[in-house]
Amino acid sequence: MIEELRQLGFRRTGGLVDLLTAMVRHHLPYTLAELAELPGLKERDQATIYRLIMKLKDVGKVRQLNLTGRVIHYQIVVPGHHHDYLICETCGGVSEVPVACTLGTVERQIMKRFGWKGLHHELEFYGVCPACAAS
Ligand SMILES: [Zn+2]
Ligand SMILES: [Zn+2]
Repeated sequence: MIEELRQLGFRRTGGLVDLLTAMVRHHLPYTLAELAELPGLKERDQATIYRLIMKLKDVGKVRQLNLTGRVIHYQIVVPGHHHDYLICETCGGVSEVPVACTLGTVERQIMKRFGWKGLHHELEFYGVCPACAAS
């Protein structure tokens, strides 16, 4: 990915490498505040992280999610890989659906039988997270 980014005009800085490493590691949607707390990014200048996120977003490598309508989450884009999300209506927390998604089968059926191409999806499940449910 670094190589591709270099071709897009990014400089291979420690900040960029650390940011990509952190975002790929758990591959979750992060808020800027959460990103700033990740190992490897804690010591970094927050403004630099923010600028890098914006630049990555501009070239389509990071997606901006506005799932809760409150906080913006950012997620690294991995080609051929999609996400379904669990959103807590109480605390606004966002996490990924922890079970394998089976909808690829449905997509393939629709493409095959009805002639659609390039079908993809992204689901949002709303509810109350375990932590909020317990309190
Ligand atoms: Zn919650
Ligand atoms: Zn899915």
